[in-house]
Amino acid sequence: MMVKGSFGYILIIVGLIVVVDYARSQQANLHTTQLADDEVHFNKSLEAILVPRVVGSRGHQQVRNYLVTSLKALGFQAEVDEFKQSVPIFGELTFANVIGYINPQAQNFLALACHYDSKYFAEDPGFVGATDSAVPCAILLNTAKTLNNYLLQQFRNRNDLGLMLIFFDGEEAFRDWTSTDSVYGSRHLVTKLAQTRSPTATSKGPGTRRIDRIEVLVLLDLIGARNPTFSSFFENTDGLHSSLVQIEQTLRASGQLEGNNKMFLNRPAGGFTDDDHRPFLEENVPVLHLIATPFPANWHTPNDNAANLHWPSIRNFNRIFRNFVYEYLRRHSVPIDLRFHRR
Ligand SMILES: [Zn+2]
Repeated sequence: MMVKGSFGYILIIVGLIVVVDYARSQQANLHTTQLADDEVHFNKSLEAILVPRVVGSRGHQQVRNYLVTSLKALGFQAEVDEFKQSVPIFGELTFANVIGYINPQAQNFLALACHYDSKYFAEDPGFVGATDSAVPCAILLNTAKTLNNYLLQQFRNRNDLGLMLIFFDGEEAFRDWTSTDSVYGSRHLVTKLAQTRSPTATSKGPGTRRIDRIEVLVLLDLIGARNPTFSSFFENTDGLHSSLVQIEQTLRASGQLEGNNKMFLNRPAGGFTDDDHRPFLEENVPVLHLIATPFPANWHTPNDNAANLHWPSIRNFNRIFRNFVYEYLRRHSVPIDLRFHRR
């Protein structure tokens, strides 16, 4: 979206008014624009990630390297949060969260996340977890690719906001899902971000914990099956969920989506789905959980593979999501505080 001449001032004034009420607004005055697809990039990314990648395996190491290389190629500062931990069945394993930053010195961050490990099944060594979560990882990279000109030109060097892409390791349980046999990577990263403080003063005062500089964690999971639906899990991010509903409507009305399936529903999810966001919630980080409910029919089966992906749904998600991220970054000017304030 280019702003030219005096028209630009009008847009800036409109932008300032909108941003004040942006997070709470149910009817955000969306200015959805056509941001071009890059399907070649998406397919290439997915192909690289869509291999068995259980923690400690060769595929896991390959995907980890691929994520680092891809982030650097897209102009991100890449960080690898490596640690060792003992787990059921395998004993000690080396985990590594991969994090990419644009504007690492910014006061606050929009964090987009998914997990890149695939689940271990003794009876199915070929399990690739297409929706869980190879597609979400490819979506994050593709979002960065399709917004790359904006990110590296207008967005670069902003002080109010940075962008984080987080690829969690070890989301999957090795034996049975419990609070300790699951989300190894996100637990480790949250502990680290809660223990480190920014060297300089931020809008929240001097020495703010790094975890408190994340305005919202947007977590993608179980995406890529036919006609998914996404409901709103948390009251404090319901305004953001509504803006996804609005963007979908706007794109559909202008003929930019395929089919008529409505993905983003203006309704509460009515429950909690445990995932990588749990440790962030415990630190009061606002979360927008974009997980398909009901889960894809092939979830945790050998059929969660490329043959069962639904490309129109994936393309639609990519289009809606990139517009959402673009609007968040573009409209942002003052800190957006969606945290629950305890009295
Ligand atoms: Zn899973």
